[in-house]
Amino acid sequence: MGDDVSAELASVHSEIMGCTKCELHKSRKNAVPGEGPIDAEIMFVGEGPGLNEDEQGRPFVGAAGKFLTELLGSIGLSRSDVFITNIVKCRPPNNRAPRKPEIEACNQYLMSQIRLVKPRIVCALGSPAITTLLGQEYSATKVHGKPTSKGDVTILPMYHPAAALYDASLKEVLALDFKTLKELLEVKATLDKPAEDDNHSEERATLEKWV
Ligand code: URA
Ligand code: SF4
Repeated sequence: MGDDVSAELASVHSEIMGCTKCELHKSRKNAVPGEGPIDAEIMFVGEGPGLNEDEQGRPFVGAAGKFLTELLGSIGLSRSDVFITNIVKCRPPNNRAPRKPEIEACNQYLMSQIRLVKPRIVCALGSPAITTLLGQEYSATKVHGKPTSKGDVTILPMYHPAAALYDASLKEVLALDFKTLKELLEVKATLDKPAEDDNHSEERATLEKWV
């Protein structure tokens, strides 16, 4: 079963490598499908590959990626524990924001990744990823740190780590939102354990407050 899912994800990724469904394929060096364990509990979704990512074909390998790795470390996780991808898989020229038709053309790949990896929590990094995942216009300033349930997954909006490289005050905000991520993981771990003798009303109340 796991092998089938891995094979299906590999096939989605090879489709991305050859994809020409939007303009962005013309200027890319490498498409960047994303990477991480097939059974990752957490998925991070950024805006799109930058220069380093385009060159290496891997997500979050530049300065923003270094900060993301640090944030993960602050809650006891490493990059290899999580799945990392973007709303568009090819670099927008000069790092401009991805355009709506590009995001729409690419969305089926992100949806396949979510369907196959089945993360419990999807962290949307920055307003374009938040808007894409929640299906309506949102800004990170307003909704960061507030989880929302969508089907079987919890979407946790956050600032983009690159934003904190320009505005250092956002580092602390991101660190706090990572603490929320950790708490959310712990609450969900408790709820998902087979019931023993106690019920988990307290954790449930906490979860309901959030989602
Ligand atoms: N910024 C993103 O949004 N994605 C990457 O992969 C790298 C930087
Ligand atoms: Fe295809 Fe997405 Fe790349 Fe556009 S950004 S060419 S839709 S993989």
